[in-house]
Amino acid sequence: MIVISAEMIGDRAGWEGCLPCRFRRLDEGETYSAINSDSAGSTVSGSIYVVDGSKHICVANAGAPEDRIRIIVRWCQVRHDLAPAGPGGNWEATGYVRCGDGWREVPVLVTPVRKELFSRTRGLFENDMLAEKSVFVAGLGSVGSVVAVELAKLGIMNMVLMDHDRLEVANVIRHVAGLSDVGRYKVLAVADAIHEKNPHAKVETCNRKIAWDTYDLTRQYVRRSDLTICTADGREGRLILNKLCVEENKPIIFVGAFRRAYGGQILLVIPHQTPCYQCFLQALPENVIGQEAPDGEQAPAYSDRPMEAEPGLSNDIAPLGQMVVKLALQRLIEGKPTTLQSLDEDLVASWYIWLNRREAETGYSELEPLGFHVNGMHVLRWYGVDLSRDPACQCCGDFVRHAAEREGFEVTAEDMATFTTSEVR
Ligand SMILES: [Zn+2]
Repeated sequence: MIVISAEMIGDRAGWEGCLPCRFRRLDEGETYSAINSDSAGSTVSGSIYVVDGSKHICVANAGAPEDRIRIIVRWCQVRHDLAPAGPGGNWEATGYVRCGDGWREVPVLVTPVRKELFSRTRGLFENDMLAEKSVFVAGLGSVGSVVAVELAKLGIMNMVLMDHDRLEVANVIRHVAGLSDVGRYKVLAVADAIHEKNPHAKVETCNRKIAWDTYDLTRQYVRRSDLTICTADGREGRLILNKLCVEENKPIIFVGAFRRAYGGQILLVIPHQTPCYQCFLQALPENVIGQEAPDGEQAPAYSDRPMEAEPGLSNDIAPLGQMVVKLALQRLIEGKPTTLQSLDEDLVASWYIWLNRREAETGYSELEPLGFHVNGMHVLRWYGVDLSRDPACQCCGDFVRHAAEREGFEVTAEDMATFTTSEVR
């Protein structure tokens, strides 16, 4: 079997010529596919030779000398016994695989990828609604990689991925990329995984770390995107992204798992409407921030610190990614008439907590067992926290005025001008 997409020839009605292309060799040579042949893996060269149906063409003359695969496509009058129909008529495709000095004829599957890809999700919402949206995913670890691929499956057609890490064997069990991707930059492995699901998605990758030296670059990514999702480790990168999103007035979702993934939390920031990440940090009790140990293993339950070594089960991390995607989707289609619109009334919290278990030596060890309870905090349920913005927030609030009032001195408008947020780093 040889597989090609209808788009490769469908909009070329009446066109004649030769299209060189790459085919992935699969199933020990039983299958060759030109769909998504840009993804990693070995490919062989081939040609799609398109001619008018009335002309005779011999396979030996229909392509380049190095071809391993050749397909002859003949345009025909519209005939209902030939499928699939292209916009300009029908075609008949015959495939050949090089076999010694000759060619072996094999069937060709011509499949309309673009049309079929989201055909079964129609009715939930119009996928085209998301085609113009752009999402920036910072951090492509166990949560970020799943989120990025899930977004592509929703029909998000524009994505920027940023992460400086390469994939290690220990990551694989919780990551969308597999062992064959070990050693690769995570962003490139995830871009391939996205294209496996949605070959038409435009994915830009950046293998640098979010830090002050990538500040301006990161701002460009934030500015160009409708939504930023931060799954990256590290307080500094998170604060930088928070600051950029507040300045650019763009929503951002932060997600982090607690140690050994006994739970996790998500913060949705809509600048100047909901608490920003800095407000969130300021809302944590001071003794909690003070207690934060240098490694995530010792971090308290409600710390924002992600675990460093990802020692959780994939199953325990999955709920975090799925909730991030749900919140992201809801932001991107907000106010649109879809079957998901009622969720706007449900997902009103800006801070969500999930617990996989009643972890010993945490504030949650004495929680009431889940049982049949519906009220209050329990394991294996999302718990929304009503968190307020801090009017004196250093990032999204009026920090200088509040500090002046607290300390009892006056600040003039001129003084204030020297404290514009874009100047403070
Ligand atoms: Zn704030």
